[in-house]
Amino acid sequence: MAGRYEHHDVVVVGAGFAGLSAAHALTDAGLSVQLLEARSRVGGRALTRYLDDGTQLDLGGQWIGPTQLRINEIVQRYGVEIYRTPAHGAAVNDFDGDRREDLLPDVTELFDSLEAMCRRVPAESPWEAEEARQWDRMTFASWLDATGRPDVATRYVARVVSGGLLAGSPAETSVLETLFYLVSAGGVQSLLGYEGGAQESRVVGGAQVIADRMAADLPEGVLRLGEPVLRIEYSDDGARVESTVHAYRADRVVVAVPPVIASRLRYDPPLPPLKDGALQRVPAGTALKVHAVYAEPFWREAGYSGISTSAGGLLTETVDNTPPGAPRAVLTAFAYGDEAVELRRHGADARRASVLERLAELFGAPALSPEDFVEYDWLAQEWTRGCFSGHLTTGAGTTFGSVLRTPVGVVHWAGTETATEWNGYFDGAVASGRRAADEVVRALRP
Ligand SMILES: Cc1cc2nc3c(=O)[nH]c(=O)nc-3n(C[C@H](O)[C@H](O)[C@H](O)COP(=O)(O)OP(=O)(O)OC[C@H]3O[C@@H](n4cnc5c(N)ncnc54)[C@H](O)[C@@H]3O)c2cc1C
Repeated sequence: MAGRYEHHDVVVVGAGFAGLSAAHALTDAGLSVQLLEARSRVGGRALTRYLDDGTQLDLGGQWIGPTQLRINEIVQRYGVEIYRTPAHGAAVNDFDGDRREDLLPDVTELFDSLEAMCRRVPAESPWEAEEARQWDRMTFASWLDATGRPDVATRYVARVVSGGLLAGSPAETSVLETLFYLVSAGGVQSLLGYEGGAQESRVVGGAQVIADRMAADLPEGVLRLGEPVLRIEYSDDGARVESTVHAYRADRVVVAVPPVIASRLRYDPPLPPLKDGALQRVPAGTALKVHAVYAEPFWREAGYSGISTSAGGLLTETVDNTPPGAPRAVLTAFAYGDEAVELRRHGADARRASVLERLAELFGAPALSPEDFVEYDWLAQEWTRGCFSGHLTTGAGTTFGSVLRTPVGVVHWAGTETATEWNGYFDGAVASGRRAADEVVRALRP
């Protein structure tokens, strides 16, 4: 496909961890690559903001766990420092006013059941699980109801699993998709844990530092910022990728954007029905992450670690998000599912008031008076449109699941939603980018 356009072996669309990882793997393989990013920055769902006094807020992803080997290896390669999530006192697990440090026995038993069930789901092909059809047609909410456990226990599990992990409501996702997500990350404890789990460490300077270092280490000219891709024309001979600025020709394309965004690009010819159907069935989550900034970590003086989970109320989780040596202290709170939707029905002032009220119930009256309050709605972001990640809808795991990462001719698909390990996480994004790059290298250098 020669012509008046710039020609590259590969055009990669999107410079989050998936696109950056694909671009690295492809340039390492000696291919010429153009990485196009819509925003004026790299990192996608990793976004760090600094307040005037230098207080660091990770508005997007922030944690790295010890079994996330790929992102840990990148962190080490670029000399990025990480630190343990602070935990200076007692955690609060609030079961409708029964505040305890441990979990209700019913909750532990439900987690054990999930742990056992997820081992019966192959992460590479969940649709092949023996109970796949039965689990795919049942929502996680229905499964919880059918356990007959007390309401407070099932509500708690729904909130921390469907909310805290899959960023939605238990009525939205199937049992199969939930189990796939769990097994892709090594199980319930690996996902929910701090020490030894997915929340173990944070990044000095913020998670975006990792993406910035990866971008800086790409050969000159590979990355172009501020170039949203609008259209991909493809044939057996190659592709033509049109951004708002230029058009490029390439032998292969890697689309490394969330499915909800990929389904909004224009393709010529239109994507095959099953591919488009699959992209339509991965809606993005609705989680809301907000930060209250205080002069002092008042909760520590009261004996609290700042870590909380709740079976009720607007906020499902909170955490002490104060980086070491930060001039001020940060409490970060998460709302999921119905609560996250409800919060968005209100104006910013009402939302702030409701969040602070709940923080005060958890940790005391000083929570009502932060010096700063920062929210960032990923659902409102044109190039993301949801948070933390997308998940196959009920019934789609067995029908469309196998299509999600299958190439369409010369077009390959990356992004954390296509990962089979640590799906939904930075690590999964890296894995997906490398997997797509590998497909391209094998196709171009058979
Ligand atoms: C609030 C929040 C908290 C999270 N917490 C954690 C956590 O603690 N730990 C963890 O591991 N993960 C966490 N995650 C998930 C993690 O951030 C994502 O899994 C990961 O960053 C996804 O990477 P990606 O490359 O697949 O997609 P993205 O990061 O979404 O990257 C896609 C890129 O494509 C660009 N793009 C979109 N459309 C176009 C277009 N048309 N043309 C060109 N470029 C385009 C976007 O701007 C973006 O840069 C969190 C996410 C959020 C939002």
